Amino acid sequence: QRATWAKLVNEKTVTADGVRIELAANIGTPEDIESVLKNGAEGIGLYRTEFLYMGRTQLPSEEEQYNAYKTVLEKMDGKPVVIRTLDIGGDKELPYLNMPKELNPFLGFRAIRLCLEMQDMFRVQLRALLRASMFGNLKIMFPMIATLEEFRQAKQIVEEEKAKLIAEGISVAGRIEIGIMVEVPAIALLADVFAKEVDFFSIGTNDLIQYTMAADRMNEKVSYLYQPYHPALLRLIDMVIQAAHKEGKWAGMCGEMAGDPVAIPLLLGLGLDEFSMSASSILQARNMMKKLSREELEAHARKAMTMSTGEEAVRYVKQWLIP
Ligand code: PEP
Ligand code: MG
Repeated sequence: QRATWAKLVNEKTVTADGVRIELAANIGTPEDIESVLKNGAEGIGLYRTEFLYMGRTQLPSEEEQYNAYKTVLEKMDGKPVVIRTLDIGGDKELPYLNMPKELNPFLGFRAIRLCLEMQDMFRVQLRALLRASMFGNLKIMFPMIATLEEFRQAKQIVEEEKAKLIAEGISVAGRIEIGIMVEVPAIALLADVFAKEVDFFSIGTNDLIQYTMAADRMNEKVSYLYQPYHPALLRLIDMVIQAAHKEGKWAGMCGEMAGDPVAIPLLLGLGLDEFSMSASSILQARNMMKKLSREELEAHARKAMTMSTGEEAVRYVKQWLIP
């Protein structure tokens, strides 16, 4: 089986009915690129930049970040690279930032919330990203957006830093897509509004599930509530994809669900454009997608959404959507 998959390394991902899908990889550091290329990813769907900031005693410099982003963009050789701005807080702490102890860190001062307040730090990262944009196909993504104001403010800061760089005589790519992660249910519910302003959505199911079900993704006691196939979640995912397409934008997914062989036919049927997963899952996913017809899956995916419970939905998916 692995030998069959290996033959697909240099192929594009196209379904049996001719729909082009982008199969991308999630990475944490530039060293991960080797495995990304070996597994034939068509892009990077999520570069978690927080690892640049972790396991050290002070913030990474602009130069250090620039080098990391440039390396990734160059090695991906013009393929899309979605780099997520710092997503710290929640379960990931930076001791040197002296962050406040919080009662509910996952509902607290994390990701874009923290970056919009610690703007000096945010601007350094954006400058590094914008400078690196000349070396490939960069897309910038903000984590944990909950309101339109947050998105507008973050985008405004990107524009400001871009203008400053250009005034300094430093080149920046002409067009850089700016998108958001869908991790907060409010975003999915208002996806039609956001779709008019963002360039893309990437659904972060790891967080979207925990916030939809109000169940801490790290807490064993409530892990029974962590249900990727719960119809409530499926409806949110559907809203995001529909809203994106209505505005001619693309919708991807970079949570664990995107690489789950049980979820792939379902997500394909719902119209997802980009799937980002660990590099080791890519060839298996490509092999699977080649045999699936999006058109045939659509009605079943819609039906799965109308189930009453997560268990019913999983049963339906396994019976009707898995080849
Ligand atoms: C997610 O929430 O699904 C996601 C991809 O982000 P992270 O796992 O880094 O929180
Ligand atoms: Mg997340």
